[in-house]
Amino acid sequence: MLSPADLSIDAFAALVARWGYKPGHAPRVLRAYYTGIDVTAAALPGVPAGLFARFADELRSSTANLAAHQVAEDGTTKMLLRLGDGRTVESVLMPDFRDDRAAGCISSQVGCAMGCDFCATTRTGFERNLTAGEMVEQFIALRREARSVGRKLQTVVFMGMGEPLLNLDAVLAAVERMADNKLGALGWRQITVSTVGIVPGIDALTAARLNIHLAVSLHAPDDETRARLLPMGKRFPIAEILAAADRFQASRGRPVTIQYCLLAGVNDSLEHARRLAELISPRRMHINLLRYNPTGLSLRGVVYEPSSEETAEAFAAALRARKLVAHFRRSRGRDIDAACGQLRERTESQEAARSAEIP
Ligand code: SF4
Repeated sequence: MLSPADLSIDAFAALVARWGYKPGHAPRVLRAYYTGIDVTAAALPGVPAGLFARFADELRSSTANLAAHQVAEDGTTKMLLRLGDGRTVESVLMPDFRDDRAAGCISSQVGCAMGCDFCATTRTGFERNLTAGEMVEQFIALRREARSVGRKLQTVVFMGMGEPLLNLDAVLAAVERMADNKLGALGWRQITVSTVGIVPGIDALTAARLNIHLAVSLHAPDDETRARLLPMGKRFPIAEILAAADRFQASRGRPVTIQYCLLAGVNDSLEHARRLAELISPRRMHINLLRYNPTGLSLRGVVYEPSSEETAEAFAAALRARKLVAHFRRSRGRDIDAACGQLRERTESQEAARSAEIP
């Protein structure tokens, strides 16, 4: 069964015409759905009541249901959405420092094949790509959640479960709908796609010529350290990834963000900072330093820990001393399953335990 999130305005307008109504009603109805308003006659005067009945009968209001929901003390909300086929994905709403704004984090795949050793999603492996509609549903769920706490969803980043550039066609289709101003959605510049550094994917994103942001998860200043953390590092050397990021930046004219997760004793020394500065200094890129949310024993048998406050500050200071723009991304939801993949892992193992108990 289709969800409204599967349809572009044109596709929905064609459906409305097939139902015997004016296709001109389609943008208002779909826009109301995108903004999280209940699509009813009361909400949209002038639209025929029969059209609402068809909308409800033939398009499920959403194929995704909420399977789990956690709210941290800092207001970070993690949602686990159950998709039409029973699989689950995580989406996260992060309150902004402004009282009325929030940012959303969207998954692009069920599970992930990238195998980043410090990530909980790695442990469940890759299951399938998400459709554009399933990503749009996360967007709408985040918008509703933001509205329910008096905030506006201001930005969206594809940084949840999965590698977006390995599902690029669907990601681009979702981005186009999220940024369609006929749907009252976000501006292009409010959308960021984040990658572990899939070089052909970065080039394909550049070729798509969308005015969105790119973030690259580097996490190490040398290929050897990086390959230990991210198996993808063996396939795409840092020099090639940064060259692809340069091409994106030259084409779109906006700084690429370099993500760097500080792991105690792994990538957080002053020597690592010096080498990172050497790589990034010639470029006009921003560095986002991330505080690690521990995920327990990794597949390689390592228990990663976040860098101490003191080490992290010294690392940032070493970058700034070399005139780099380096910010800490605030650590979110430490009192809930905040790391990518943790809520899904916990919920699925609880469900498996419950079903094992049923005689
Ligand atoms: S960090 Fe991102 S790319 Fe790496 S395994 Fe986790 S979800 Fe996949």
